[in-house]
Amino acid sequence: MDKKFDAFKQELNRVYKKNKNYHKKMQEQNITPEDIHNWSDIKRLPLTTKEDILANYPNGWNCVNENHIKLYHASSGTTGKPLIVGLTENDIKTRQKQILEDAKMAGITKKDTVQICYGFGMFTGGLSFYDGLKELGCKIIPTGTMSTEMQLFYMQQLKTTVLITSPSHAMHLYETAKDLKINMKALSIRIIRVGSELLTESMRRKIKAAYGKNVSVTQDYGMTETLGPGLGMECMNENGMHLNPNYYFELIDSKTKKPTTKNVGELVVTTIYNECFPLIRYTTNDLVELSHEKCKCGCSSPRIVKFLGRSDDMLKVKGVKIFVSQIEDFLFNHPYFNHQYEIVISKENYKDILTINIEYKDEITPSQRKQIVKYKENIEQEFKSKFGIKSTINILSTKSIKPYPGKIIRVRDLRKLKV
Ligand SMILES: [Zn+2]
Repeated sequence: MDKKFDAFKQELNRVYKKNKNYHKKMQEQNITPEDIHNWSDIKRLPLTTKEDILANYPNGWNCVNENHIKLYHASSGTTGKPLIVGLTENDIKTRQKQILEDAKMAGITKKDTVQICYGFGMFTGGLSFYDGLKELGCKIIPTGTMSTEMQLFYMQQLKTTVLITSPSHAMHLYETAKDLKINMKALSIRIIRVGSELLTESMRRKIKAAYGKNVSVTQDYGMTETLGPGLGMECMNENGMHLNPNYYFELIDSKTKKPTTKNVGELVVTTIYNECFPLIRYTTNDLVELSHEKCKCGCSSPRIVKFLGRSDDMLKVKGVKIFVSQIEDFLFNHPYFNHQYEIVISKENYKDILTINIEYKDEITPSQRKQIVKYKENIEQEFKSKFGIKSTINILSTKSIKPYPGKIIRVRDLRKLKV
């Protein structure tokens, strides 16, 4: 008997009964829950897209009566309306379990003092970590999105051992600490668990160089639709994110949307234990490479070893798809820059213009000016031959780019603004 499959069947029955949209989709394919006998039958079920979910906004996807919903959280809504997800009492428990797993995978124990630098609002990060870590029994410092100076103050006073934040915020803390003559390597931090943005390998190296080479820098992956962090969890071996075994994952060809046997494809996720907001074969739009190689940690779950494109990471410039993480890798592979950069896309005479502002690692002295002009020309050329798009790369003095409060915004797309 496969307990996980039984739980999935129960969920599918519920979706079929209560979710009108998905019911209709199944009817169109002439399929009922009775036709699904095992995991391989699952591919006969229709896919779910974000558009399906948003069709009956805001509550159309819920599979429980409204009075069973105890909590709401929502996506940031940077690309449109925020996606709102309701949680029942059981969903809150499931989320707690998910964070516990995530924290254990990161190596966090009850002896740790964990500082959560995520927002405690509708965003799933802050509250879910708070809830899950409470179960673990460690000390929690819920600094949320308070000022960098205050974050550093608590980090020193309370001897933070674990930081939970985004990669760019970890680096921003380091830069501010440098100004305040605080040596991050002398603090008590042993683990930095990042999420919310993609951690590139070059960024991991930068964070380790800033906080100390023995500090574990790992990431997790999640989305509002699947109760927040913990859909993918990297262990202390720093070799990719283990897929959470409490979900069912498939890879599909991103163009044909058909199942693929390759290790590369678009990740499709099916929830098993979600009550209010179950998802059957949800297309994440995230293009990943999976590894089935056994990990030293003993967890046999496959790992996302590479994001070849994450939906929230993709830009379309002059008709060409390009990923922020690719640009970041490109920039960070040059020794002249620090971690601060921004990508600006504008439109002139109906043409897209790509501008990248990046900070030089030190103050630019008048005598360096000439050298910088040369770097700029070389790098612009290199960019063009690598990505096939022309760009203007402005090399600025350190601290020229203003950090944004809260989640750091790397991309400013001015094409969407009405003039
Ligand atoms: Zn592992």
